[in-house]
Amino acid sequence: MSRSYRIAVLAGDGIGPEVMTEALRVLDAVEEKFGFTTTREAKNVGGAALDASGHPLPPDTVAACEQSDGILFGSVGGPKWETLPPDLQPERGALLPLRKHFGLFANLRPGVCLPSLTHASPVKNELIPNGFDVLCVRELTGGIYFGQPKGREERDGEVVAFDTMIYRKSEIERILRVAFTAAGGRGKRLVSVDKANVLASSVLWRETANEIAKEFPEIELSHLYVDNAAMQLVRRPDSFDVLVTENLFGDIMSDEMAMFSGSLGMLPSASLGQQKEGGLYFGMYEPSGGSAPDIAGKGIANPIAQILSAAMLLRFSLGEAEAAAAIEAAVAKTIDDGYRTGDIATGAASEKKVGTKEMADAILERL
Ligand code: NAD
Repeated sequence: MSRSYRIAVLAGDGIGPEVMTEALRVLDAVEEKFGFTTTREAKNVGGAALDASGHPLPPDTVAACEQSDGILFGSVGGPKWETLPPDLQPERGALLPLRKHFGLFANLRPGVCLPSLTHASPVKNELIPNGFDVLCVRELTGGIYFGQPKGREERDGEVVAFDTMIYRKSEIERILRVAFTAAGGRGKRLVSVDKANVLASSVLWRETANEIAKEFPEIELSHLYVDNAAMQLVRRPDSFDVLVTENLFGDIMSDEMAMFSGSLGMLPSASLGQQKEGGLYFGMYEPSGGSAPDIAGKGIANPIAQILSAAMLLRFSLGEAEAAAAIEAAVAKTIDDGYRTGDIATGAASEKKVGTKEMADAILERL
């Protein structure tokens, strides 16, 4: 029986539509090669949706996502919409409601620096002769960003402000299971990052991680305090396989990882909801970077983050792991063969400087 899936395609703003076009060409190619089909429903989101219908996340966009097996997202936002009220701004008005609507509680961000791109990383190159490949799994819907009570009031004649870092055990269990499962498909080493020497929520986090570890005896679990983890990550990123941590720590650590990976144009991400039968997830897949208004419309954006986001969708939401691996291998080979968009170029004579479409052409040739 032929395998067929539905994908909601939300290209968004800035470089979003440009890089999405190339990711869809790559999807076309793997569909033919691996014998499956996707039905794609393209919808407006972010600034494009505001311009078309006055709202950054129109109901027909949500409906298309509900009917899909996964969402391939570009990026949203830009100077044109920055002065709108917060709830209408593209990121706040589209991204956060989408995460909430679909209960996307697990954010997966690979921090990958391919061996031939170590020059683009601010980490001393002699420390990472073979590059690195770390996956950060961040809890996305709990912790201090959402904990109640939060607020501001007057106490003893001065203003105080407060937030609550709170985790239910079930929230910790489900994110830990995602992280253990992800580690199982890679190097089988998981570092749980917390602040259990100070925070009660972290003590529960650590206890729960040790309990869940019993379900995954093949995975080596270790623990690091977040301050130490941040230092180790800069010192030896290649010593990590998978990291798992709560929302606030993950927000900071995943950006740290993106920074020392070299270019945002190379990094995909996935936000996953509850695991379904068969081990797959409903998820939203998007580049780690934003809409890059400074280079939008010029045909020079790096399409790799969007193409690798499509690969993550194939792996986690469609169960087409072979096609995902083929895309990842073709991307690595293209970089090895010297193809560079502006963000990852050094100007060396051996490099082939290309634009968005030519980079995708080179990847397609290697598929
Ligand atoms: P950005 O990630 O868009 O850009 C930061 C820098 O990285 C820029 O110099 C940009 O040119 C470069 N860059 C990013 N992606 C690239 C690619 N694929 N190829 C080559 N270079 C690339 O971040 P910003 O400038 O802080 O934000 C721009 C807009 O994007 C803002 O409106 C912001 O709100 C929005 N944004 C959206 C998302 C999202 O949709 N998930 C995430 C972050 C920022």
